[in-house]
Amino acid sequence: MLAGLATTRRLAAGGSFLCGVREVMVGSVLVLNQNFEPLNITSWRRAMGMITLGKASVIEEDSEWIATSTKVYRMPSVVRLSHLVRRPMPELKLSRRGVLTRDNLTCQYCGRQSRSLTIDHVVPRERGGPHTWTNLVACCSECNHKKGNHAPEDVGMTLTHPPERPKLIPYLNYSVFRAAIQHKQWRDYLRPFAPHLAEDVQA
Ligand SMILES: [Zn+2]
Repeated sequence: MLAGLATTRRLAAGGSFLCGVREVMVGSVLVLNQNFEPLNITSWRRAMGMITLGKASVIEEDSEWIATSTKVYRMPSVVRLSHLVRRPMPELKLSRRGVLTRDNLTCQYCGRQSRSLTIDHVVPRERGGPHTWTNLVACCSECNHKKGNHAPEDVGMTLTHPPERPKLIPYLNYSVFRAAIQHKQWRDYLRPFAPHLAEDVQA
């Protein structure tokens, strides 16, 4: 049924936050659980298949259109499952990418934005500093060089924000979530799970 579908624009699926926000969302559909928790992001083709089978219903429509030989549809933007999927709440894993995403690709000492940042242990490992969300920050190479194996206060450096463990986000990968929350139609469904991420999103 979906084989003959054509859309009014070129579609790209997938992508990552670091490649750009648009790639994550163009032609993509936010899938909500029956209880409105964000479950995943899928392609519009898969979403149309779920709608056709009665497994999901459209909550928000995209401004784009999908044309078959007999009918024209508005492309779905947000769909909600008709049944509740029960899954264990995932652990938010500590990762280099997660720290860079949390810190908005910004050096936490000098405030410079860069795509080539390092990860700094605020309390150096040599002094027993742990490898945790609250002791890791994004750091530019200049600040990293200046700080070396010292505590920030020893070399006159201060953090722009105290590093925190991000609040738990259900199901979606943290980087994807961060990109997705910038999508105007998706924001209201994602905001309750990470209000701190929604704060710096443009209206
Ligand atoms: Zn710096």
